[in-house]
Amino acid sequence: MEGEPEFSREDLENGRLLFAGPCDFMLGVASAKQLPDAEGPEIAFAGRSNVGKSSLINALTGRKTLAHVSNTPGRTAQLNFFDLSGRLRLVDMPGYGYAKVSKTERAIWDGLIRDYLRGRATLQCVFVLVDSRHGLKDSDREIMELLDETAVPYRVILTKADKRGAGDEAMLAEIAGELRKFAAAYPQAFLSSAEKGHGIAELRAIAAGYAEN
Ligand code: GDP
Repeated sequence: MEGEPEFSREDLENGRLLFAGPCDFMLGVASAKQLPDAEGPEIAFAGRSNVGKSSLINALTGRKTLAHVSNTPGRTAQLNFFDLSGRLRLVDMPGYGYAKVSKTERAIWDGLIRDYLRGRATLQCVFVLVDSRHGLKDSDREIMELLDETAVPYRVILTKADKRGAGDEAMLAEIAGELRKFAAAYPQAFLSSAEKGHGIAELRAIAAGYAEN
C-alpha cells in the first residue's frame, strides 16, 4: 500500500531465507503459566475469527497445514508458538470477535491475551489482521487500544486483497485515517492475499527484520 517503504532485494532475500528454513510447532498455551520463557524475538498474529490468519501464516511459512484453517471460528483460546530456525518465533493468537463465544470463554481469552501482552519483552511486533473489505471493527479497535496501553508496536495487515472490489478504495482511506489515532500502530496498513500470494514476500522481509541473525 501507499507509503510502505521499498523493499530491497536483500530484504526480500533475507525474508525468503528465513521462511525457507525449518519451522517447527513449539507448543500451544492456554494459560499464562504455560508461556515459554521469553527467549529470542517473537512476532504475533492477531485478528477476528475468519479474517484469514491461519491462511496467512501457512502462506508465509509455505506449509499448507501448519496453522489450522478452521471451519468453526473462535474455538481455540490458545496461543500457538512456532519456531523459525531458532531465529524468530511466530505466535498465532486466538481469533476474536466471534459472536457465539460465551462470556466465560471471552473472559478466558481476554485474560490470556492480556497476560501475554503485558511485559513480554521479546515481543517485537503484532500483526493485527483485518479483512480488507470490512475494515476495522470494534473488536480490532479493542486489541489495538490494548496494544497501545502495553506499548507493543503493531501493524495492521489487510487480508483477502484478491476479494476486494472497485468500491473498496474508500475503505483503505478510512483505515489509513483511523490508524493515525493509534499511538503504537505502524502508520500504514499493508495489503495482502494469502490466496494469490500478494504481499507475502514483503511480509516475510518485514518479519526477517525482527529475526536474530
Ligand atoms: P482464521 O479463522 O483467521 O484462521 O481464517 P482462515 O485462514 O481459516 O480463513 C477463513 C476463510 O477465508 C477460509 O475459507 C479461507 O479459505 C478464506 N481466506 C483466507 N485468506 C484468503 C485470501 O487471501 N483470499 C481469499 N479469497 N480467501 C481467503
